[in-house]
Amino acid sequence: MTNRTISHIIEPNLVIEGAGVLLRRSFGPHITNKFDPFLLFDHFSFNNPIEGPIKGFPTHPHRGIETVTYMLEGTVRHRDSLGNMGTIAEGDVQWMTSGRGILHEEMPQRSANGNNLGFQLWVNLPSAQKMSQPRYQEISAGTIPIIEKDGVKIRLVAGEIDGIRGPVTEIAASPLYMDVELSAGSRFMVNVPSGHTTLAYVFEGTGEFADQVVESVSMVVFQNDGDQIEVKSEAGVRFMLISGEPFKEPIFPYGPFVMNTKEEIEETIRELRNGTFIK
Ligand code: MN
Repeated sequence: MTNRTISHIIEPNLVIEGAGVLLRRSFGPHITNKFDPFLLFDHFSFNNPIEGPIKGFPTHPHRGIETVTYMLEGTVRHRDSLGNMGTIAEGDVQWMTSGRGILHEEMPQRSANGNNLGFQLWVNLPSAQKMSQPRYQEISAGTIPIIEKDGVKIRLVAGEIDGIRGPVTEIAASPLYMDVELSAGSRFMVNVPSGHTTLAYVFEGTGEFADQVVESVSMVVFQNDGDQIEVKSEAGVRFMLISGEPFKEPIFPYGPFVMNTKEEIEETIRELRNGTFIK
């Protein structure tokens, strides 16, 4: 086993999306596809009453991607063109495979104490699955396995650890996605296949990632060689661990669409205009 070292650390940018939602973005879809198979990582955090009502994300389309929403405080109401609707409640995960296309709205709501805290990850689809049938995996908090050992608490959304499998299945990027909480003085090790893109989004506390001190809020990008991640913390730290297999295909992103070529994006826009986007 070889420990991964850190490639670099991203300080998330504050951006405004949807109908005026303030969020922290670590990265977004870009033609360089540096985080292949991951396209975007957003952190919603509305904890200041002067921000006023959360405006949400009114109806918008997606094609060619998967969006993964994980809520820790507050909820997200959602509704789509295929008749699906529901609420992503505290601790729940929604793994949405847009495939060839959906139109949906996502409306965050504050919790009773006024907070809204959650994450949205975008995962690419390989070219052969970009025009697949849309699919939702709705995972309620109670069905997410919690693994507790030696001061480390893991909530496993996708992938496998210690022979335990997360509830999200059949994802092309074979991702590992989990919420990891280290209590003060604990240490965490996890195997990740060499070559898989691996990131850690540190959102509470401070930890040593590959012997480098990282404070929240930061996105740690690991080098691609090595097959093990080591994290230690003196005072406690909490982070999302994200790892997946690159597709190594060219991408052509345009807003909420990520296809492989410019022609496929032009076709997508044509279909939206003439009303044939939703099949
Ligand atoms: Mn969306």
